[in-house]
Amino acid sequence: MPRNDWLLVMPILLSCAGPGAGSTAPRAAATGSVEDVLRDAPVVDLHLDTPQWLLDQRYDLGEPRRELGQVNLDSMRRGGVGAAFFVLWNPPDLPEADAHARALALAAAVRAQVARHPADLAMAGSVDELLAARASGKIAILLGMEGAEPLHGDLAELERMHALGVRYVGLTWNAHTAFADAGKPDAPRHGGLSPLGRAAIAEMNRLGIAVDVSHLSDASAAQAIAASRAPVLATHSCVRALSDHRRNLPDDLVRAIAASGGVVGVNLHSVFLDAGFAARAAAAEEAHAPERAALALEAADPVERRWAPYLAELRVAHALPRPPLAVLVDHVEHLVKVAGVDHVGLGSDFDGGIVPPDGIESHADLPELVAALLARGHTPEDVRKLLGGNVVRALREVERVSRALRSPAR
Ligand SMILES: [Zn+2]
Repeated sequence: MPRNDWLLVMPILLSCAGPGAGSTAPRAAATGSVEDVLRDAPVVDLHLDTPQWLLDQRYDLGEPRRELGQVNLDSMRRGGVGAAFFVLWNPPDLPEADAHARALALAAAVRAQVARHPADLAMAGSVDELLAARASGKIAILLGMEGAEPLHGDLAELERMHALGVRYVGLTWNAHTAFADAGKPDAPRHGGLSPLGRAAIAEMNRLGIAVDVSHLSDASAAQAIAASRAPVLATHSCVRALSDHRRNLPDDLVRAIAASGGVVGVNLHSVFLDAGFAARAAAAEEAHAPERAALALEAADPVERRWAPYLAELRVAHALPRPPLAVLVDHVEHLVKVAGVDHVGLGSDFDGGIVPPDGIESHADLPELVAALLARGHTPEDVRKLLGGNVVRALREVERVSRALRSPAR
């Protein structure tokens, strides 16, 4: 369906999202069209970096999307998003001692948005709450943590973060932590997980916090998957077989995640999707490095010092020619081939400095992805799994494992 027609249909679809819309059972009238698939799928985005925009930029989700901003209520509604993980991430220039306070401030900024938009958003701490929010026509908001610096090495913090709404933790972002080696620095620190990292995974399994391996080194990820008794997520990752980037997963890790019952959420960043774009972006970044350094020097306050160069870099990257949507579909199809259709999901990484493929600006363009998947012959039932059904199943299993581990009968 041409994009404009889709936009005309969407308000009607949204008005139909009354009680019962959370049911994953196919409806009798479903024809498998793009709109049917999006209406019936519990669309779950595993990774949004929007909290930093809410906190640092005082951005409100009810506003129009700002230049370079990718997430707001309107676009999530138009893309049929039923649930989204908002991620607590610490900028690398922040002293580790400040990471805990930063995570709490980010979580508070998310909760303030939910309080400000009660007709649109609801915090969800479980799959039942996620589906209930969706059934009542709201978008369920969950929290994830990207990099374990806010735990400052204290496993007791995991329980506090769980109480705050955190339902997955990635033990690293791009820097090694006390828990695990990250994928980025070349020299490993622990050779994978540290003993503390293993203990953290056991505690996460007990609490019902999923393990996210997206930023871990290959060794850390393999060890984390082996250590976890619950399904493991790679919340925002593409595949290395199609584009050789260290942030992308090799096929053996994709298979291991699937064997755990987990899900790989495909990332929409062109740098990960397409090696040609990555090379162009790296060259542009280098060419503009002096300009960014000058912006950082000129900025008066610490937040501006971080954001001015970041936004300048994003502007440059967004001006480059982007790969076509077909490249994203190729990554999804490779994941389906290697992991199986029950172990692939969506982790857009919107608002995390990403440049999506051509034709995708926000969740509002998800119908284009759905149409492309259907056009390649994927069944409506399979596309619903990819959009979020698989994540719902994996999270239910994380909850079941937690209940079993907490049970006094053990
Ligand atoms: Zn990330």
